Amino acid sequence: MRLIILGSCSGTQPFPGRHHTSFIIEHRGKLYWFDAGETCSYTAHCMGLDLLKSSKIVISHTHMDHIGGLGNLLWTVRKLNGISGDFSGKRLDIYIPQVESYEAIIKMLQSTQGNFSADFELEAHEIKNGLLFEEDSFKVTALHNRHIQNEPSPEGKWFSFGFLIEAQGKRIVYSGDTKGLEDFMPLLSPKVDILLMESGHHHPVDFAKELKESPLAPEKLFFIHHGRRILDDYDNMLSGLQDLWGDRVRILDDKDIIDL
Ligand SMILES: [Zn+2]
Repeated sequence: MRLIILGSCSGTQPFPGRHHTSFIIEHRGKLYWFDAGETCSYTAHCMGLDLLKSSKIVISHTHMDHIGGLGNLLWTVRKLNGISGDFSGKRLDIYIPQVESYEAIIKMLQSTQGNFSADFELEAHEIKNGLLFEEDSFKVTALHNRHIQNEPSPEGKWFSFGFLIEAQGKRIVYSGDTKGLEDFMPLLSPKVDILLMESGHHHPVDFAKELKESPLAPEKLFFIHHGRRILDDYDNMLSGLQDLWGDRVRILDDKDIIDL
């Protein structure tokens, strides 16, 4: 099982060498996508990943730095399948909080080439709290956070989520964009192996200190979704984090590959 970082940047202004947030967990030959920021499909393909092994795409929320590459990802899967036919008859599930964003992307794709007709199935599912899916011993559970709303919509819907990923005896939590630790505390117990924490809305060292002092501290703390605060002061941030967490902390970069 591998964690593959395709984009490590938040929606701050474009930053050299970093793209908007997206990562893959590769499990038993299948690709599970989490967020789909700009260029995610380009980066994955150029890293040698076979996009026709994609099984699920999970979108934490529909802000552009998490969804901007989704149209291109679907288009690229169709393109690659058009060349090899290896995805024919298969299906790709998209889990997303606001399905209307997915439908708008499909509408855009249908106005490009060939009405976006394809001989594989795409299906969108609205994310709600609880189990999203369990497939081939790969399990994902969603929990809403307060990034977009402090209260659910009048229809009882949440628009932003974090996730617990369980596979091969590992427990990994992805914060999504979040107001802080309180949002995803329930996912951190029992102790998780890795927390993927967004750094775009927080002071990473302050967060690392808060988490270290918490009984919920994970085995490893990886930062993703970087904003200017961490990128403009990278060396100081890294040494501050390492003072607290030693080699158990990382600031993730685009194209990082981590064996799990
Ligand atoms: Zn974001």
